[in-house]
Amino acid sequence: MEIESIVANSALVRAREGKRFKGRSWKWREMLRFPHISQCAELAMSTERDYYSLCVKQPIGKKLFQLFCRSRPNLQTFMSLQDALVGFTRNLSTDKERKDFGISIIQRFLMRQVRQLYINSSVSWNRDLHKHLSGEPFRQYQDSMFFDRFLQWKMVERQPITKQCFRQYRLLGKGGFGEVWACQVRATGMMYACKKLEKTHVKKRRGEAMALNEKQILERLDSRFVVNLVYAYETKHALCMVLTMMSGGDLRFHIYNIGKPGLDRKRVRFYAAEVCCGLIHLHQMSILYRDLKPENILLDDNGHIRISDLGLAVKLSEGSLVRGRVGTLGYMAPEVIGLEHYGMSADWWGLGCLIYEMTAGQPPFRARGEHPKPPEMERRIQKEQEEYGDKFSQNVKNLCSLLLTKDPKERLGCQRSGGREVQYHPFFRKINFRMLEAGLVEAPFKPDPRLVYCSDVQDIEEFSIVKGVTLDHTDSNFYSKFNTGKVPISWQNEIIETGCFGELNIFGPVGSRSPDLDW
Ligand code: ADP
Ligand code: MG
Ligand code: MG
Repeated sequence: MEIESIVANSALVRAREGKRFKGRSWKWREMLRFPHISQCAELAMSTERDYYSLCVKQPIGKKLFQLFCRSRPNLQTFMSLQDALVGFTRNLSTDKERKDFGISIIQRFLMRQVRQLYINSSVSWNRDLHKHLSGEPFRQYQDSMFFDRFLQWKMVERQPITKQCFRQYRLLGKGGFGEVWACQVRATGMMYACKKLEKTHVKKRRGEAMALNEKQILERLDSRFVVNLVYAYETKHALCMVLTMMSGGDLRFHIYNIGKPGLDRKRVRFYAAEVCCGLIHLHQMSILYRDLKPENILLDDNGHIRISDLGLAVKLSEGSLVRGRVGTLGYMAPEVIGLEHYGMSADWWGLGCLIYEMTAGQPPFRARGEHPKPPEMERRIQKEQEEYGDKFSQNVKNLCSLLLTKDPKERLGCQRSGGREVQYHPFFRKINFRMLEAGLVEAPFKPDPRLVYCSDVQDIEEFSIVKGVTLDHTDSNFYSKFNTGKVPISWQNEIIETGCFGELNIFGPVGSRSPDLDW
């Protein structure tokens, strides 16, 4: 390895280790300084008073609303009930445990006369709880110092994002329109990956719609199995998407670059199950992904995967289909190649290819090192039966062949129940999907925090420079649609996870609403 690479890697590894406090700029408090409450008047007027958005969905809003409730004696029981419900819906694995826990909740809370609630099951408990809290408590909250503080956080959130907000570390990879770099937010110390799209490249290849599509799909998603978009901003030369940092490398790297090609069964099962959850989340939002392949599935530092690279994803309107030969040839479904109209079926085919490749250490329709011409690949995908060697157990072979069914109407995952049908396959019998969805299952492989799981810096091809493209005012409409700054839910999570919320959200003695609010 060359010295340049060693230096770049060790700088990145050091930054990652210090991610909690060390990475923060010494001016971090100033960067996150609250405006005086009088400067929030306009925001207060324009904020839609929607309980669900303000007190449930937005992480800082939720925290402040909970702090408010805990400060009111008559609302404290509701908070304890809420805590218990979180445990009830997330922590318990067997139905017996859940039942016992439910009984204990009834005993603890019903006996204490939470009379406003008519309680019978966990779903309706949650609903009834929110129904109650969204009434009078929500009205009182909006007159409290906790809501003032929420507005102050929202003002901080609105500050524009520039290149100066980040420190840049090593190059991580290269994409179609530009490079991906490791970066760190100066104000919080949080590490991210910054995907840059060179403006001249985008313009030359007419990639505007595609870039905007990727950004807009990502900002609406909130799934632990898909990379999060946290910031979108522009510099003089590039459009930048700041994404969840995935330090564990992509599945391609793990399948081929570490030991014998392929992964052991536990890992195959775990990654396949998480990808399956990710696809279900995308499909629930009517988003078809279309680019499933090992290099687009990334590992985080705990060994969990996220789907990345949503450049080819499309949002389908209710029940409609699309057409278009889109994707990477070896992974395209027969109906995509055949120019038919298709829907979510293409992704279930992709999952079949992925499970096959993780197991066999080679993709289903091409031997290793072999590069058949496109027409030959198409013929194989549409006509040939894939072969299963002795690495395939009965279960995994059965699952792959059901997902790689040529006719999309017959394929697993393409019936009414969608991805749930895939989750019920015997291959996944050992997976508890409820726990997996809640992030409570430990990954079978944890990346080594001292390693950098990607190609050496100098082995990543340099990005070429486009000549003869000039940017003008006609481009700025597109840039301004892209350049929307922070994505509220992701940014608020960053503020909480890095401890900045806890350190800054100090209130003075009860009742003294200033000067503590304007620091
Ligand atoms: P493109 O759409 O141009 O293919 P990608 O989104 O696939 O671009 O990114 C290109 C490469 O950058 C990936 O193959 C991967 O190596 C790296 N990369 C992308 N996103 C991340 C991330 N969130 N964390 C770490 N590395 C990433
Ligand atoms: Mg890619
Ligand atoms: Mg892409």
